[in-house]
Amino acid sequence: MTQIQLKKIEQLLSGLDPRIAEILEKSLSNKELSREDAIQLMNVRNLELSALTLTADYIRKTKVGDIVTYVINRNINFTNICIKKCKFCAFSKNKEDPEAYNLTINEILKRAKEAWKMGATELCIQGGINPSVDAYYYEKIIKSIKKELPEIHIHGFSPQEIYDGGTKIGLSIKDTLCLLRDAGLDSIPGTASEILDNEIRKIICPNKVDVNTWIEIIKTAHQLKIPTTCTILYGHIETLEQRVKHLEILRQIQNETSGFTEFVPLTFIPWNTTLFQNIMALNNINFSEATGIEDVRMYAVSRLFLHNFDNIQVSWVKLGEKFAQYALIIGANDFGGTLMEENISKSAGATYGEYISPDRIKKIILDIGRVPVQRSTVYELIQ
Ligand code: SF4
Repeated sequence: MTQIQLKKIEQLLSGLDPRIAEILEKSLSNKELSREDAIQLMNVRNLELSALTLTADYIRKTKVGDIVTYVINRNINFTNICIKKCKFCAFSKNKEDPEAYNLTINEILKRAKEAWKMGATELCIQGGINPSVDAYYYEKIIKSIKKELPEIHIHGFSPQEIYDGGTKIGLSIKDTLCLLRDAGLDSIPGTASEILDNEIRKIICPNKVDVNTWIEIIKTAHQLKIPTTCTILYGHIETLEQRVKHLEILRQIQNETSGFTEFVPLTFIPWNTTLFQNIMALNNINFSEATGIEDVRMYAVSRLFLHNFDNIQVSWVKLGEKFAQYALIIGANDFGGTLMEENISKSAGATYGEYISPDRIKKIILDIGRVPVQRSTVYELIQ
């Protein structure tokens, strides 16, 4: 089947714009794409677009086969109080805000136990940068959960939380990571990367760690054998060049450490954010959100450009389950998690819900002729 698929793609390539055909042939012969190649692919339309998606799906099949994985997990956003004021974020609140909250350890534990009872193998724990919280509090959260639920995987604390949480108590990045790892932290979400370009960061998240610091935190985690995921927040004010530069940084880190478990493209949900409501409107920036075809190109190009990643995950909360299902046939191979609660995208205006059942995920995957398999956070197959 794979050989027939390859032959059909090769036939298709012969009728394409020769430059695009040459780039796709490079991918099919396992050659690394350049930044320029990826930018060209980010612009394709018509038959070239179809060839791009077929090639991405073929590469996915040769790399990871027909299994589509998913994880039973629960998000716990333990505080929404945050001083960072990222312009793309509608989740964070000032501590005086009536909607501000800070979960107690008991409340966090209650949610963790509920998740465990529902079959969760992972807790994804992240919060705002709350001035009253530091890395010792993160340590306390981890230890309290592990005491009650020693087998649950704790995937938690973004690079920004690691940085601020450690700085407050005078610990280096490495010592903060060691503190949390020794408490039981199993892996880290590679969020807070947004777009790894300092000029963009100055506009959309001026108070966050800069590119070099983000890279240092991630590489240090990998050196300490703490795996991380990685993401991109695209579809706002970044250029295609900046998107591809971001992917190139991730590819380079993966070449050095092999510490990324997956890549998750996150399409920007603009509606309730300052970035959309103030900056873009006030500056007459012609903007809505990434179009569906932009999302398609992002997934397919990621599969080809990130040749050293096995796993590309769809974000059903941002894309909706129907588009997420489609993303599985253009390069992606992981459906992400059940989540059980979700606050970040919902606050920004997403309407796709907070929970998707394992049965629904299985139906979505079976319907495209692939094989649903539950996995652990680090991609061990469970069923
Ligand atoms: S993205 Fe994170 S750090 Fe930035 S404002 Fe929102 S909660 Fe705070």
